[in-house]
This record gives sequence, structure tokens and C-alpha cells, in this order.
Amino acid sequence: MPQEILIQVTPEIASNESLLRDFVSKNIKIGIADIQQVVILKRSIDARQKAIKINLKLRIYTKGEPFQETKIELPDYPSVANAQEVIVVGAGPAGLFAALQLVELGLKPIVLERGKDVKGRRRDLKAINRDHIVNEDSNYCFGEGGAGTYSDGKLYTRSKKRGDVTRILELLVAFGATPDILVEAHPHIGTNKLPQIIQDIREKIIECGGEVLFDTRVTDILTKDNEIEGVVTHKGEIILANKLILATGHSARDIYELLDRKKIFIEAKPFALGVRAEHPQSLIDKIQYSCDYRGEHLPPAPYSIVKQVGGRGMYSFCMCPGGVIAPCATSPGEVVTNGWSPSKRDQATANSGIVIELKLEDFKPFAKFGALAGMEFQKSIEQKAWHLAGETQKVPAQRMVDFVQNKVSTEIPKTSYVPGTTSVEMGQVFPGFLSQILREGFSEFGKSMKGYLTNDAILHAPESRTSSPVRIPRDGITFEHLQIKGLYPCGEGAGYAGGIISAAIDGEKCALMIAESLHKQ
Ligand code: FAD
Repeated sequence: MPQEILIQVTPEIASNESLLRDFVSKNIKIGIADIQQVVILKRSIDARQKAIKINLKLRIYTKGEPFQETKIELPDYPSVANAQEVIVVGAGPAGLFAALQLVELGLKPIVLERGKDVKGRRRDLKAINRDHIVNEDSNYCFGEGGAGTYSDGKLYTRSKKRGDVTRILELLVAFGATPDILVEAHPHIGTNKLPQIIQDIREKIIECGGEVLFDTRVTDILTKDNEIEGVVTHKGEIILANKLILATGHSARDIYELLDRKKIFIEAKPFALGVRAEHPQSLIDKIQYSCDYRGEHLPPAPYSIVKQVGGRGMYSFCMCPGGVIAPCATSPGEVVTNGWSPSKRDQATANSGIVIELKLEDFKPFAKFGALAGMEFQKSIEQKAWHLAGETQKVPAQRMVDFVQNKVSTEIPKTSYVPGTTSVEMGQVFPGFLSQILREGFSEFGKSMKGYLTNDAILHAPESRTSSPVRIPRDGITFEHLQIKGLYPCGEGAGYAGGIISAAIDGEKCALMIAESLHKQ
């Protein structure tokens, strides 16, 4: 039987196969020549001590023990060209993984996506970055792969269901992601690698007989006697099916408005909102690794911080080491920030959303919008920020200490946010209570992470699309909408996921529920 061991080694040993074998040989007292294979099962960084260590879980095969390289393969997908059709609206992680699961279960997905394919999207990302033009159907949130395509591709989730998480990670590996994501404690893929994986998923769906239609925005949902009949697209085309997975993400405001207009039950949901902070990566390395230079064997350091301030949680969100701040607006007349990183995370700056939990009562000034009150609150801040920064895709920015001291920054250095920044006192962007909590919170962060509170850090506003401001409620067992039979609210936009992995898991679950309900008929 191969032996499994837990060890702690230096970053240098962890990244060098021959040094690692040497270490193992001494550690378990086997001659180097007797070691056939050392397989890394788990890898994490322990930065709690002055000398940083890498925790490794290893499986050691000695000579003569049967060893076979694990090959992760795709499931045997059947042809579904003539199978029962299911409409999937949205080709984000929820929609794509729902479609794949439908195929696996012998059902034919018809995926309708308002945006372009991954390649076509690039032109629109360039236009928003360079020319300040926002395409309402193709941007950092909309298009093939959804909001996760041009992201950091962080693949960790708070989901305790390890089996579900592993299944999604293994599918990603089978579609071309590095197998390292199965081993790392905090895996990520990177903006440069995600598009090819997403394209391969789409090609597999089509190869099996499913359909994927781009430039196809759903503008109406057809129902009869509270049952789904189909959808209407912006071209006026009617597509009929009595099962519909609605996976349109947290930024599809027109879908929430449509449901509200049609009196299909939705409800306001609390979310979080704040700013995106950017520090030099070398400073974050210094704080997290307690050293002047992280060296060649450690990755750019991430951070994660949470504090209770004024009775609310204030926390880092979607932190991107070695990354870039992206313009994530989905309509003209608003600005929104988020972040991405390439797979090597080799940019000079580290950015993170720093956000505060909102409560339903915060949306009171927008009460006349009913279930859309939170969405209108969110929109009002994005529009105010757009106005204050000069009515382009430039965002309001302020140095961190200046913000805490309520001082307008005299100048803002160039940041990674390509459209540019305008020096604005952030207090003008947010309601007073939020600015107050952010100010206190940054002072608290500075006490826990020495060096974090610095004028070398630049705040960009707003970070407002952290999760959905609306929930589309569904039955906890069947996953069907509470009122409309055949409608399956899915993923982040419905309020049932937050992040790539949980959205993909939710997509698979909705597909499974549809198969189960068809089986019972
Ligand atoms: P989405 O990904 O939002 O997909 C919804 C899709 O529906 C979109 O493609 C949209 O075009 C389409 N759609 C909307 N309305 C219609 C309509 N009317 N008709 C047809 N199609 C429609 N999460 C992580 O876990 N890790 C990260 O590193 C990470 N980084 C991020 C970086 C950025 C810049 C952004 C914007 C998000 C990031 N996220 C990250 C969040 C993550 O992308 C989302 O949680 C995830 O994509 C949600 O998946 P989803 O499928 O539910 O929705």
C-alpha cells in the first residue's frame, strides 16, 4: 500500500521535485532509489510563522507498488439532438454547467445568451477600457462564460459539499484546466486560460446535439396558467419548452424588471457594497509573508480580512493578487469596479473589493420600487459615481489615508484601472453611514495588517456587484419557482450562488431536478 504523509517544507523544496524526493527519503527513511513516485494530494501555504512553510499531503509509491497516473476524463456524453428540449437562459457558469449536466442526463439544452462568444467579447472589453463605450449585451458581466470569464478565476467556495466541488473542478480539468486546481487549497485559473476552457465546454454541448445561441437576449417569458411555455427573444423569435433554467446573473436588471412587471414573485435581498482598494503587490507580500522580498518560490500573496464595524461586517471580497481593476458597468451612465488576474498573477498591484453588509432597511428610500428597492439603491450609487468622476468610465478615486481623514487627494497616481480615475472625496459617493463605517473599518484593518492603511493604497468606487440585490424564490426541494411551474431560478442572479464554483454547482442541481421531475411524469 502506498504511504500517505503530511509534511511541512520550505517553498524551495516544495517547488523542486528532486529536493522533495530527497526530503521524503530522509523523512520516511527510504532510500532515494526505492522511491518510485511522489504524488502531491494537497498543497497550502502556512504564513503564520516568520519562516514561511508549505504544507503538503503526499502519497509515496515505493518500487514495485502498482502506480498509474490519474487521468481525468469527460463523462460519456450521449447524443441529445432528438431529446426533450430545455431552455437555459444565460451562458455563465450556472447556465453552462446546467447545459452540460442536461446533456449527461439525455436532455437537449437550448442555451440563449445575450452576449457574444468569448472571442467576440474581447473587442467590447477593449471599447469599454479604451473608448469608455459600454455595450449593454457584451461586457465584463455579459457574454459567453458570464461574469467569470475575464476574472481571476478563483475556484474556492464556502460550500461544505466537497463532492460537488470536486466534480466541478474535475470537469474543468477534463476541459483543459491545470490539474493543480485539484491540489491547491486556493486554486485559481486566470483570465488568460478561462476563455479556451469555456469555448471547449460550448463545443462539447453543440457536438452532442445541444444548441448555443449568442446575441440572443430573452425579453419575455411565456406562461399559461402559471406554467412555463417558452421565451421570446429580442429578435421577436419564440422558443417553446416547458422547462426553463433562468441563469441570467446578478446584473440582468431587465430580467428582474420583467419578472416584476409580469408579477412573477421576486423579493429584495441584502447584498454588500463598498470600494475596490489597490496596493502595490510588494507591500501586500511584505505584510503577509513578513519579509522584504517574497523570493522566487512563493506566489504573490493574497489577503482576506473581516471586521465588525458599527454592527456590520466589513470584509475583503474577490481579492486579486497581481491583478487589474476592471470596468464592470453593464449600462451607459454608471461605473462599477471588480478585479481580474492572469494565471501567473504577475501584475505589480494587488486589488480587493472592501465591502460592507447591507440590510433590507437600508433600501427604505427606494421602497416605492418594492422588490427592486435594493437594485435601485445599487444603481443610484453607480450612477452617482459616474457623474462625480466626469460621466465617462473613469471612476472616483481617493488615497486610503486621505479618505479616512476626510481629505480630497491632491493627485491620484496611475492605477491598474485602464479607463482612469478622478480625484473625488468618497464620502460623496456613499450614504453617510456607509462612508463612516468604511473610514472606521480601514483604520481597524490597519491595526490588524500593519502597513495596510497607507496613502500608497488607492480606493476606487464603487464595488457594487458583489451578489444579487434580488432573490427569485424557489422551492427548496424541487428547485422550481414558488409560483411558476417549469421555471428554475438558478445561480447568482436568482440568489442561490456566489462565485464560479457555487454557480456551476447550482446549474448542475437545477438540471438534475428537471430530469427528476420528468422522470416522475
Ligand atoms: P453570470 O456569470 O453573471 O452569467 C449570466 C449570463 O446570463 C451572462 O453571460 C449574461 O450575458 C446572460 N444574460 C443575462 N441576461 C440575459 C438575457 N436576458 N438573455 C440572455 N442571456 C442573458 N467569482 C469567483 O468565484 N472567482 C473569481 O475570481 C471571480 N472574479 C470575478 C471577476 C469579475 C471581473 C467579475 C465581474 C466577477 C467575478 N466573479 C468571480 C463572480 C463570478 O463571475 C460570478 O459569481 C459567476 O459568474 C456567477 O455565475 P452565473 O452563471 O450565476 O451568472
